[in-house]
Amino acid sequence: MFVRLQGCPVGCPWCDTKHTWEVKPEQEATFADIPIKSVENEKWGAITESDLVKFCLDNYSARHIVITGGEPCMYDLTNLTRMFQAYEFTCQVETSGTYEVLVSEQTWITVSPKVNMKGGLALVPQALGRANEIKHPVGTHKDIDNLHELLVNYETKSDVVVALQPISQKERATALVWRSALKTIGDSLYKYTNI
Ligand code: SF4
Repeated sequence: MFVRLQGCPVGCPWCDTKHTWEVKPEQEATFADIPIKSVENEKWGAITESDLVKFCLDNYSARHIVITGGEPCMYDLTNLTRMFQAYEFTCQVETSGTYEVLVSEQTWITVSPKVNMKGGLALVPQALGRANEIKHPVGTHKDIDNLHELLVNYETKSDVVVALQPISQKERATALVWRSALKTIGDSLYKYTNI
C-alpha cells in the first residue's frame, strides 16, 4: 500500500509525481476524497497518524506500507512507522537522500539518490548510511560513474542492496543497466576466483 506524502523541493526534471511538489492550502481536500483519487491532481488531505493506521487496517488487506512522496523524509516518520508496526504492518520509506531519515529501527529504507537537481539540495550522509537499499536511476553512462563515486564517498551499510533503475524503462538505459550489472558480477567472480 502506498502512502504518498505531499511536498517535495528536490526538483527532478523527469519526476512523474509533480502534483506532489507543493502543499498549497487552497488544494486541501477532505481526507475521505484522497484514497479514491482516480486521476493525478494536486489535492491533498490531512489525517492524524492513528487515524491513518486505522484507515489502512479497516479498508485494505495489504500489510506492507510504502511511504513515499513527494519527499517523505521532510517529515519525522518515527511515530507513524512505529504505529504501523504495532499493528503488524511492515514499513518501507522511499527517499531522495536529501533529508535526514527519521523512522523506526525496523523500517526498510530505499534511497534513490538525487544529485544536482533543480532544488539544489545536497545528499545527507545519514540518509545514505541508513539505507538498506540504494536504487539508482540510470539514463546514461554518466549515471553509473556517479553511482561509483557516491559509493566511494559515502559510508553505507555493508549489506546495502544496490539496484539500477533504467529511467522510464528506455531501451538504451535498460541495456546499459544489464551490461553494468553483468560486468559487476563478472568482476566479483574474477575477484573470488583469484583469492
Ligand atoms: S525526489 Fe521524487 S518526488 Fe521529488 S522531484 Fe524527485 S522524483 Fe519527484
